[in-house]
Parts: sequence; structure tokens; C-alpha cells
Amino acid sequence: MRYIEPHGHMVSRTTDDYQDMVTAGCAAVCEPAFWAGFDRNSADGFYDYFCQLTEHEPKRAAKFGLPHFSWLCINPKESENVVLAAEVISIIPEFLKKPGVLGIGEIGLNKNSRNELKVLESHVDLAARHDQLILVHTPHLEDKLKGTRLILDLLKSDSRIKPERCIIDHVEEHTIGMVLDSGFWAGMTLYPESKCTSARAIDMLEKFGTDRIWMNSACDWGVSVPLAVPRAALEMRKREHPHSWIDRVIYQNPFSFLSQSPNFKLPPVQ
Ligand SMILES: [Zn+2]
Repeated sequence: MRYIEPHGHMVSRTTDDYQDMVTAGCAAVCEPAFWAGFDRNSADGFYDYFCQLTEHEPKRAAKFGLPHFSWLCINPKESENVVLAAEVISIIPEFLKKPGVLGIGEIGLNKNSRNELKVLESHVDLAARHDQLILVHTPHLEDKLKGTRLILDLLKSDSRIKPERCIIDHVEEHTIGMVLDSGFWAGMTLYPESKCTSARAIDMLEKFGTDRIWMNSACDWGVSVPLAVPRAALEMRKREHPHSWIDRVIYQNPFSFLSQSPNFKLPPVQ
């Protein structure tokens, strides 16, 4: 089996996780900037975090032979402070030049507040000005449907944004249709306790097809499973989906989307 983990918060994982992922066939891991479990208080805190994502974590991953890529932003959970958000957004361009940076993410909404929308708009503008891919986090539970609608409307209203260069992550049964119908990519996040289980994700693939969809584990500091994607692949095998179908979902699809960034280059398979 080969797969790409397109959304993993590796700074919160151990070296054992790296070892397990590579053993299971992981060919690359992509790490979006996220909320660290506490609110950072200064742009300097984000500067150091961006250094961690673009310089230090790739070195740690390389020790296990795993190519590591990253996405940069201030997470919606920290976007209530619009002054801090503007300061953080102003330091991102210098990091976009780093070799493994794929785009702006994971941006989006958390509580669908006015300030979050303002900061989302600034991020979308940043991506458009620097011709970057976009990775979007959608809110949880009761805020998801409304938040996803707000996000899609905002992206669609900016004529510089191409839907095929944006992935809307954490989709569920009630949001996947509108995301795909608008031409965007959809990400399904496999979580043991919330978001989406493997069974539900495979049901959605069977219903909506495999075009413009990827799966990720999001593995972060909370209850999450870094091997969720290969485990979902085993469940697809149990349902007797052919190897080519599974390979498309867990390897070829993320490969196609991510290859739209010139910085996404994988070493040749030996
Ligand atoms: Zn995430």
C-alpha cells in the first residue's frame, strides 16, 4: 500500500508515529498550521511556529525518510484578535519562499464570527496575491453547515480564486455535495470520536464517487489516529473495492491536488 497523509499535525506526534506511518506506506505528510491547544499571544510566537513547520519538522520527518510539506496561516480559533491576525498574516510571505510550503491553510471558520470572516478574507487575498493553494478548515457540529456555506460564498465571490486549487476539509454527509458541486476539492477527516469514521467516509465515496476527494487523519494533540488513512484503506478492501479505486483515493488524488503547487515534489520511488 502507498498513501499520502495530506493533513497531519506532526509537531504534536512522536517519532513512533513517524515510524508507523512510513511502515504503513506513507509517501509524504503535509502539515497545515493550526491551533496549538492554547492561544498564542504574539506574532513572534507564530514566527517561531512557522520556523518549526518549515525548517525543523521537515528535518525530523527526513530522519524517517518521509518528505514533509507545510501550509501557513493563523488558525480561525485565534482570529478573534484581528490586530494580531493582521500582524501574523504580514509575516507569512517571507515563509512562502521556503521549499516545502504548499499554500495558505488551514484557514476557515470556527464560530462563524464577523472577525473570523474578516481574517478569512485577508487569507484568501494573501493566497490570491501570491498564487497559493488554499486549505480550508470547516467548523464543527451545528456550525458546520452555515460555516461551509459562508466559506464557499466568500471563495466564489473572489474572481481570482480557482475552486480546483482549494480543498474544503472536514466535510460530512450534509456538506460534501455543495463543496463538490461548486468545483472545489473535499477532504474527509477520519477521527475516532468526532468528525468522520472510516465507515461513513467510505459510504460517502460510494455515493459521491472518488473525484476531487481525499482522506486525512488530521492527527494532532487530541484523540486522533495517525494511521487512520491506511486503516480506512483496509476497510475499503473488506468492502471489495479494487486496488486501483483505493489507490486513487489515498494516493493519486492528494498527489494530483498537491502537485498544483510547484513545491510539491516527491523523490522517485526506488
Ligand atoms: Zn487540522
